Amino acid sequence: MMLLSIKNLSKTYTNGVQALKDVSLNIPTGMFGLLGPNGAGKSTLMRTIATLQEPDAGTIHLFGEQRIEVIREKNEVRKILGYLPQEFGVYPKISAEALLDHFAVLKGISNRKERKEIVEALLVQTNLYENRQKNLGTFSGGMKQRFGIAQALLGNPKLIIVDEPTAGLDPAERNRFLNLLAEIGENRIVILSTHIVEDVSNLCSQMAIIAKGEVLLTCEPIKAIEELNGKIWQKTIAKNEMKDYRNNFTVISSTLFAGETIIHVFSENQPDASFEQVVPDLEDVYFSTLLKAA
Ligand code: ADP
Ligand code: MG
Repeated sequence: MMLLSIKNLSKTYTNGVQALKDVSLNIPTGMFGLLGPNGAGKSTLMRTIATLQEPDAGTIHLFGEQRIEVIREKNEVRKILGYLPQEFGVYPKISAEALLDHFAVLKGISNRKERKEIVEALLVQTNLYENRQKNLGTFSGGMKQRFGIAQALLGNPKLIIVDEPTAGLDPAERNRFLNLLAEIGENRIVILSTHIVEDVSNLCSQMAIIAKGEVLLTCEPIKAIEELNGKIWQKTIAKNEMKDYRNNFTVISSTLFAGETIIHVFSENQPDASFEQVVPDLEDVYFSTLLKAA
């Protein structure tokens, strides 16, 4: 078992934006979801763990076979790290196979035969083998992201960070990508940062919600959902009634369905007879947590 222990991490950029405010998190072996809206500080935290930037304060330790002080022992981290950044650029005029081989060389896999085997196996695992000779510039968004996972898996890393990997993928590609992530999540730490609640509910055994640089909640998704049992109420309303409902109830979310507005309200008891109780889900956890912090 491994544990990534983040303590009191803070970061203010030179423009004055405080991206991380005293962030503390314990991330165990398995798939960990870091959920938060745009601008929450997710990428800042991911880059800091990936040793690409320094915090102003705080510590990060990785406890495993060895004990690594992440911020100081960057090279030790890089040996066991696989990272898929949010903006993952690929050279468009090189084949998937050639670029993966190149990354493998950079990872220090110097034996040609061994490298060929590893590259092939990763192309198979990410379902890119048939397209291995095509230029990356011709790849779909989903294929590019799967290539991103292939390069992140080089060297069999113990710590894998994927930053918003499903943003911009169509539903089928997203599913394929999440299935791939589910397969690699055993016996290592995988941190999945996302603003998409479904990514977390489908995959992660542990999660945190982060907004405006602060950790609002750390939990097991199932337990957090259970805590809302009996407290989420639904009603279909007219669009122009929204303001009234916001004034009178704790409206945690509103969604359009077939042209109608459906609101979810948080309340210990039935607000009135026109509301019906619904089985809570992770969206309810997410939106009620964000609302409480606002
Ligand atoms: P997220 O990944 O959750 O969208 P980020 O970590 O990218 O959040 O950004 C957190 C905040 O820090 C945002 O307000 C963003 O504009 C700001 N920020 C991010 N990177 C920089 C940077 N290099 N310089 C200045 N501000 C930045
Ligand atoms: Mg980001």
